[in-house]
Amino acid sequence: MAGKGQGPAIGIDLGTTYSCVAVWRHDRAESIPNDQGNRTTPSYVAFNETERLIGDAAKNLAARNPSNTVFVKEAVISVPAYFNDSQRQATKDAGTIAGLSVLRIIVEPTAAAIAYGLDRTDRCSGGKKNVLIFDLGGGTFDVSLVAMENSVIEVKSIAGNTHLGGQDFDNRMVKHCVQEFKRKHKKDISDDARALRRLRTSCEKAKRNLSSVAEITIGIDCLYDGIDFDCRITCAKFEELNMDLFKKCIEHVDKCLDDAKMDKNSIHDVVLVGGSTRIPKIQQMLQDFFKGKELCKSIHPDEAVAYGAAIQAAILSGQGNAAVPDILLCEVTPLSLGVHVQGGAMSVIIPRNTAIPTKKERKFETCSYQKSSVLIQVFEGERARTIDNNLLGKFELTGIPVKIPRASQGVRTIVISFSIDANGILSVSAEDQTSGNKNSMTIINDKGRLSAAEIDRMLRDAEIFKAQDEQHRRRVEAKNALENYLYDTKSKIENDLSFALELSYSDRKKMKGAIELATLWLESNQLVGEKQFQDKRKEVKSICDPIIAKMSLV
Ligand code: ADP
Ligand code: MG
Repeated sequence: MAGKGQGPAIGIDLGTTYSCVAVWRHDRAESIPNDQGNRTTPSYVAFNETERLIGDAAKNLAARNPSNTVFVKEAVISVPAYFNDSQRQATKDAGTIAGLSVLRIIVEPTAAAIAYGLDRTDRCSGGKKNVLIFDLGGGTFDVSLVAMENSVIEVKSIAGNTHLGGQDFDNRMVKHCVQEFKRKHKKDISDDARALRRLRTSCEKAKRNLSSVAEITIGIDCLYDGIDFDCRITCAKFEELNMDLFKKCIEHVDKCLDDAKMDKNSIHDVVLVGGSTRIPKIQQMLQDFFKGKELCKSIHPDEAVAYGAAIQAAILSGQGNAAVPDILLCEVTPLSLGVHVQGGAMSVIIPRNTAIPTKKERKFETCSYQKSSVLIQVFEGERARTIDNNLLGKFELTGIPVKIPRASQGVRTIVISFSIDANGILSVSAEDQTSGNKNSMTIINDKGRLSAAEIDRMLRDAEIFKAQDEQHRRRVEAKNALENYLYDTKSKIENDLSFALELSYSDRKKMKGAIELATLWLESNQLVGEKQFQDKRKEVKSICDPIIAKMSLV
């Protein structure tokens, strides 16, 4: 065994249903069978929103390596692309608890792409390559778009559903069998937990077989009340039972491309990952979507991620051959980041799926020039209103000198800048342009941030409430436009001396009257629709604008 450590470094794919360990030897990645001789091991490790990965269970995984494997201390562990920093940290900690020195955490889609050597072929041609990774496992589904250029691998966008996978297909089959049992024997087995468990095991097995045969018979002795159960299921029936779920998978592919603003024609390779991608119908639907493109499926779908992690481990521990240079991994933000602005709207500064590290700034105009402080509230999420998003933190920009506004100078400009470093830590700073006053804060990607399940929920909500949010956004815009117009015009009459002096008595009366009436109207009509705000603004403008235009000609 080559290498500078005690042996070769390993790659670990911690799956939700199965996990796989691989190692780089004989110049290629090989998966390590467990003590049962299986190349994948049911996962004993678990995460949820509150708990960290369980140390003993993680250790189990290491303990399950057969004695004939030279166990090494160094490892690269893969995690889903949507894991946030604290989840990655928890995975790393679990590895450490299991006695491993974790060289790096890499995201699953990147690992799969590395396994296919897609990063290397690209280096020869020198061009850019877009790879779509379709990962359908037992309980989760992820689609990721990875861009590869020179030695940089960047995850462009991620989509999917953390609650869609092989288990759902099993459930559909179980439901079908329960109905069949009812039809044939007039008995309902749906309350019998043991019968259901036996049925589920048989269904999962049948499902796997249906990936290679056209039909199969499920046979279970004494399933319920001493009755044997037999049920023939064809491939076509299985597909029919799950068609809506299969279609959903393809919709997510479309969404992933949409998020990355990419056309399906610009995808160079489509890689299949996860046990459920063995289902022929899913392969066919995906291939059809990509207009008949050959799919990358030569590596076992449940081993591809571990292979990639093993290759990465070999590289990092210095065992890779010269042909495999170091790869720079890039990650993206799972949710949009922004601030709360007038009318409760979310103003996005760093959009979802932006590669990190990144720094972005935006100028904001605020009417609160008479206050000496401005509150900056930082949110993450995809909804139009901050109330529907997740508050990460807030701070005040204080000590701003109160300004006496003059006409168009009534607003003050605040520059807010967001920067995220390579570890996913967000820093926010705000500066008042006139006074140069600054304040800032750092948000550590920790407790305040969301779990994968929450991120998933928020993305789904954003999709569901899109139309409603859009309507709200337009309503707030219309209301703000009216408010701003009234405010600007009023301060022109009151504070712009040259304007005020030129203004005739009757014009002044007309303008003031219109503004006052509209202000009163606004006070009692805060909740009306976009159209009403627009109409009211048009109405005031039709009175004030001709006067202002006439004055500027003088
Ligand atoms: P995860 O990454 O979520 O742990 P895996 O990628 O290991 O999941 O996939 C496990 C899922 O793949 C299970 O639901 C299993 O039933 C399914 N699966 C495995 N082999 C096949 C097959 N031949 N046909 C259909 N489904 C399969
Ligand atoms: Mg997996």
